[in-house]
Amino acid sequence: MQKSSVKSIALERIELLLAMARKELDHDVERARRYVKLARRLGTRYRVRASRASKGLKISYCKRCNTPWVPGRNLEVRLEPRSRCVVYKCSCGYERRFRYKR
Ligand SMILES: [Zn+2]
Repeated sequence: MQKSSVKSIALERIELLLAMARKELDHDVERARRYVKLARRLGTRYRVRASRASKGLKISYCKRCNTPWVPGRNLEVRLEPRSRCVVYKCSCGYERRFRYKR
Protein backbone atom coordinates (compact mmCIF):
# COMPACT_ATOMS: atom_id res chain seq x y z
CA MET A 1 0.00 0.00 0.00
CA GLN A 2 1.20 3.49 -0.71
CA LYS A 3 2.31 5.71 2.08
CA SER A 4 -0.13 8.47 1.22
CA SER A 5 -3.15 6.18 1.35
CA VAL A 6 -2.06 4.82 4.71
CA LYS A 7 -1.95 8.38 5.89
CA SER A 8 -5.38 9.22 4.58
CA ILE A 9 -6.82 6.15 6.28
CA ALA A 10 -5.16 7.22 9.50
CA LEU A 11 -6.61 10.69 9.07
CA GLU A 12 -10.04 9.26 8.52
CA ARG A 13 -9.79 7.20 11.68
CA ILE A 14 -8.58 10.18 13.65
CA GLU A 15 -11.51 12.23 12.41
CA LEU A 16 -13.86 9.45 13.38
CA LEU A 17 -12.35 9.13 16.84
CA LEU A 18 -12.58 12.86 17.45
CA ALA A 19 -16.20 12.88 16.31
CA MET A 20 -16.94 9.99 18.64
CA ALA A 21 -15.15 11.75 21.47
CA ARG A 22 -17.33 14.80 20.99
CA LYS A 23 -20.48 12.72 21.08
CA GLU A 24 -19.32 10.83 24.13
CA LEU A 25 -18.76 14.03 26.04
CA ASP A 26 -22.45 14.12 26.91
CA HIS A 27 -22.39 10.66 28.40
CA ASP A 28 -18.97 9.69 29.57
CA VAL A 29 -16.16 12.23 29.83
CA GLU A 30 -13.57 9.59 30.62
CA ARG A 31 -14.40 7.67 27.49
CA ALA A 32 -14.33 10.86 25.46
CA ARG A 33 -10.82 11.47 26.74
CA ARG A 34 -9.82 7.96 25.82
CA TYR A 35 -10.93 8.51 22.23
CA VAL A 36 -8.92 11.70 22.03
CA LYS A 37 -5.87 9.90 23.38
CA LEU A 38 -6.31 7.17 20.79
CA ALA A 39 -6.61 9.74 18.04
CA ARG A 40 -3.46 11.45 19.22
CA ARG A 41 -1.56 8.17 19.36
CA LEU A 42 -2.64 7.36 15.81
CA GLY A 43 -1.48 10.77 14.75
CA THR A 44 1.93 10.21 16.26
CA ARG A 45 2.32 6.81 14.71
CA TYR A 46 1.40 7.92 11.22
CA ARG A 47 2.89 11.34 11.60
CA VAL A 48 -0.31 13.12 10.87
CA ARG A 49 -1.39 15.82 13.21
CA ALA A 50 -4.68 15.19 14.88
CA SER A 51 -5.30 18.89 14.79
CA ARG A 52 -5.18 18.73 11.02
CA ALA A 53 -7.89 16.11 10.96
CA SER A 54 -10.15 18.36 12.93
CA LYS A 55 -9.38 21.43 10.91
CA GLY A 56 -12.87 21.36 9.46
CA LEU A 57 -14.29 21.40 12.95
CA LYS A 58 -11.86 24.13 13.82
CA ILE A 59 -11.67 23.47 17.49
CA SER A 60 -10.28 20.18 18.56
CA TYR A 61 -9.22 19.09 21.99
CA CYS A 62 -7.22 20.07 25.01
CA LYS A 63 -3.61 19.00 24.89
CA ARG A 64 -3.40 18.88 28.64
CA CYS A 65 -6.53 17.03 29.72
CA ASN A 66 -7.48 15.43 26.36
CA THR A 67 -11.06 16.62 26.55
CA PRO A 68 -12.73 17.42 23.25
CA TRP A 69 -13.49 21.09 23.19
CA VAL A 70 -17.03 22.35 22.90
CA PRO A 71 -17.32 26.14 23.03
CA GLY A 72 -19.53 27.41 25.82
CA ARG A 73 -19.32 24.12 27.58
CA ASN A 74 -15.76 23.38 28.54
CA LEU A 75 -14.17 25.98 26.37
CA GLU A 76 -14.05 29.71 26.70
CA VAL A 77 -13.20 31.65 23.58
CA ARG A 78 -12.22 35.26 23.78
CA LEU A 79 -10.49 37.80 21.64
CA GLU A 80 -7.50 39.79 22.66
CA PRO A 81 -7.47 42.66 20.20
CA ARG A 82 -4.30 44.12 21.60
CA SER A 83 -2.21 41.10 20.75
CA ARG A 84 -4.51 40.04 17.90
CA CYS A 85 -5.02 36.68 19.48
CA VAL A 86 -7.89 34.33 19.91
CA VAL A 87 -7.58 32.70 23.28
CA TYR A 88 -9.04 29.28 23.90
CA LYS A 89 -9.34 28.48 27.55
CA CYS A 90 -10.17 24.96 28.64
CA SER A 91 -12.09 24.24 31.83
CA CYS A 92 -8.92 22.66 33.22
CA GLY A 93 -7.17 26.01 32.97
CA TYR A 94 -5.10 25.30 29.89
CA GLU A 95 -4.88 28.19 27.47
CA ARG A 96 -4.05 28.27 23.81
CA ARG A 97 -3.49 31.33 21.73
CA PHE A 98 -3.88 31.69 18.03
CA ARG A 99 -2.93 34.71 16.07
CA TYR A 100 -5.48 36.03 13.72
CA LYS A 101 -5.12 38.33 10.79
CA ARG A 102 -7.09 41.44 10.39
ZN1 LIG B 1 -8.05 20.91 29.43
